Amino acid sequence: MSVNNKKVVILGAGLAGLSAAWHLQEKALDCSVFEKDHAVGGLCKSRKLKGFSFDCDGHLLHFRDKYIFRLVKRLLNGNIVSHKRSAWISNFGIFSPYPFQANLYSLPDNIGQECLLGFLKAVQSGERGALNFREWIDQSFGAGIARHFMLPYNDKFWTVPLEEMIYTWTGNFIPQPKPSEVIKGFFGKNKGRFGYNSEFWYPRSGGIEQLPLAFERGLKNVFKECKVDSVDLQRKELVARGKGKIKFDLLISTIPLPELAKILNPLPRRLSVAFNKLRWNSIFNLNIGVKRKCQPGRHWIYFPHKSTSFFRAGFFHNFSHSAAPAGKGAVYAEVAYSKRRPLDKKNITKRVIKDLVSSGILGRDNKISVLDINDIKYGYPVYDENYPEATAVIKEFLTGNDVISCGRYGSWRYMSMEDAMLDGKHAAEAVSNEKSA
Ligand SMILES: Cc1cc2nc3c(=O)[nH]c(=O)nc-3n(C[C@H](O)[C@H](O)[C@H](O)COP(=O)(O)OP(=O)(O)OC[C@H]3O[C@@H](n4cnc5c(N)ncnc54)[C@H](O)[C@@H]3O)c2cc1C
Repeated sequence: MSVNNKKVVILGAGLAGLSAAWHLQEKALDCSVFEKDHAVGGLCKSRKLKGFSFDCDGHLLHFRDKYIFRLVKRLLNGNIVSHKRSAWISNFGIFSPYPFQANLYSLPDNIGQECLLGFLKAVQSGERGALNFREWIDQSFGAGIARHFMLPYNDKFWTVPLEEMIYTWTGNFIPQPKPSEVIKGFFGKNKGRFGYNSEFWYPRSGGIEQLPLAFERGLKNVFKECKVDSVDLQRKELVARGKGKIKFDLLISTIPLPELAKILNPLPRRLSVAFNKLRWNSIFNLNIGVKRKCQPGRHWIYFPHKSTSFFRAGFFHNFSHSAAPAGKGAVYAEVAYSKRRPLDKKNITKRVIKDLVSSGILGRDNKISVLDINDIKYGYPVYDENYPEATAVIKEFLTGNDVISCGRYGSWRYMSMEDAMLDGKHAAEAVSNEKSA
């Protein structure tokens, strides 16, 4: 068979699947994309309700890769605006600037001093080889920063004991300012740009789904409402709803690994054990259209303590004027949960609204126009002690069966939208190398 006659099938039309298809098409290679939902975008879908435009959860673009930056700008064709992050932390009855560790000046005096002294002690002790995420926090930031922000916030967010987590993923996601910057931030406002999200980009209008929609407009063979129900890797055949049996030579899967495990047939026992070891948290995100703009200029606020149901609240109307009708506000609040820490779904909406009022985000007189509930099953893959081995076993098996599993949930990594698009591009490159090998 000629290399170009090999049939490539992509599972999932989130950013990873769309990017894979886009980059294959750029190389003049055909593929078919099967998406279970009625629209493309995966987690990057948006919804219009009563004049408000909500993403399924706040989705802001960050760029480290010049190529992806240029691609996104080209796709969005001018419909994109940059913002300098205005992020805050609700603690000790005040909102202090994020990141906590670089802005100790903003804390009550005794807390700021405790944090700085703990940090200096940790620096003095040097590298001690942390055994888990909890120890890594203590050793990197010291006892005060750990106690007042890092431990409560991460426990609330990950929903598993932090001693059970590894910390290899932290590099890109948790800002680690230099000692000189922490000291500077103790004495006054720190102008440094910390972390991957100190600047972000967002569509001028239409919400984040403008990006997947732009990909889709340039693609052939994207089949929506076509859930893939089974994949036989020996016969290289899958069954997609409404399409029946489809043969393939190479498969790019971007669907969550636990979902792939359900449709792989047959699935060797060793693999089933590995898939069963994967852990994740889920995110319940409540979008709220309110009759008054709130928190002018602020993009999002972290809530580290258990007394508030959500770990973060954000403000779409401060990302884009089109997110809410004139004078109104589009707010979101995110609650993390998991099998380990289940959520009382019956009462959570009421509780979130109550907490938004008691934390001062919504005024008591702030009338709600609309609610939009997004219960995101796969939120963040949890990097626990089983993670390295389980993911290695799964990856080896899939690669050995001509499956490239990529994207946030296909590679099972804490990934941004940029990373997902890059992963899709790399999958397309691997296929094109295979085809020309
Ligand atoms: C709460 C939250 C907030 C986030 N905020 C940001 C942010 O601010 N900035 C940022 O850069 N990133 C953010 N991310 C990460 C970002 O959403 C992801 O990295 C990116 O969207 C992942 O794209 P993907 O294509 O890998 O996965 P997905 O978007 O999950 O796409 C997978 C697709 O597969 C489809 N599918 C599943 N099963 C099947 C099946 N059997 N058959 C066919 N199709 C199937 C799904 O419907 C879906 O469309 C956030 C993630 C979460 C959870």
